[in-house]
Amino acid sequence: MRTPIIAGNWKMHKNVGEAVEMVRMLDERVADSPVEVVICAPFTSLSALSALGLGKVKLGAQNMFYADQGAYTGEISASMLEDVGCEYVILGHSERREIFKEDDELINKKVLKALEANLKPILCVGETLAQRKAGETETVVVAQTTQGLAGVSADQIEKVVVAYEPIWAIGTGETSNGDDANQVIASIRQTIGKLFGSELAEKVRIQYGGSVKPSNINEFMGQPEIDGALVGGASLKVEDFVGIIKY
Ligand code: PEP
Repeated sequence: MRTPIIAGNWKMHKNVGEAVEMVRMLDERVADSPVEVVICAPFTSLSALSALGLGKVKLGAQNMFYADQGAYTGEISASMLEDVGCEYVILGHSERREIFKEDDELINKKVLKALEANLKPILCVGETLAQRKAGETETVVVAQTTQGLAGVSADQIEKVVVAYEPIWAIGTGETSNGDDANQVIASIRQTIGKLFGSELAEKVRIQYGGSVKPSNINEFMGQPEIDGALVGGASLKVEDFVGIIKY
């Protein structure tokens, strides 16, 4: 049985005070949930959130660099994230791929470094609208999954979470439907099975992401291959996020 994992990606939202206020409330409201709950906050809030001594909510970052330390102005290392209490880190989000031109090779280096530092990567994959229309969805996600996981060992793969996020569904109000998302996620699991064997692939959690809300979460969580959600906009308000976690 895979434990469902619902993670909030706050992107570039909330100052420290706002972050602390929401996560304190969230931690109380979801204390009894059987779901693993993660908040991926901006770097600036992570120390303060960690200092709350949270019971249920785990912390994640939204990006990191692969080097240990050095002259990389503006970057943050895996060990720095570990040091401020992160357990997870989102890698390869489509906004990183599109706006900051991150490619699969760079994302793979980050995945390997995160695992080495004992962080659990949430590796994002997903197709553009043009790729979907051209019938390339599975080719794209299989390639991103294969390249993103290159060099990961069989011992490490269970720590990886994959998030299938069709780019056209992120922040647009458009969603994939449950059946379609389930089918794409099944092909991601098959890819992991080819790389690591089907027994290990069955243990890897794969989320859906893209305009998930309290009103549509059941459609996704009712699918056999979908193990949770990566949630952007609807993770910013405690009522909405609690509604998703208590699907
Ligand atoms: C995301 O940014 O990962 C995301 C899924 O955003 P939203 O839920 O707002 O579509």
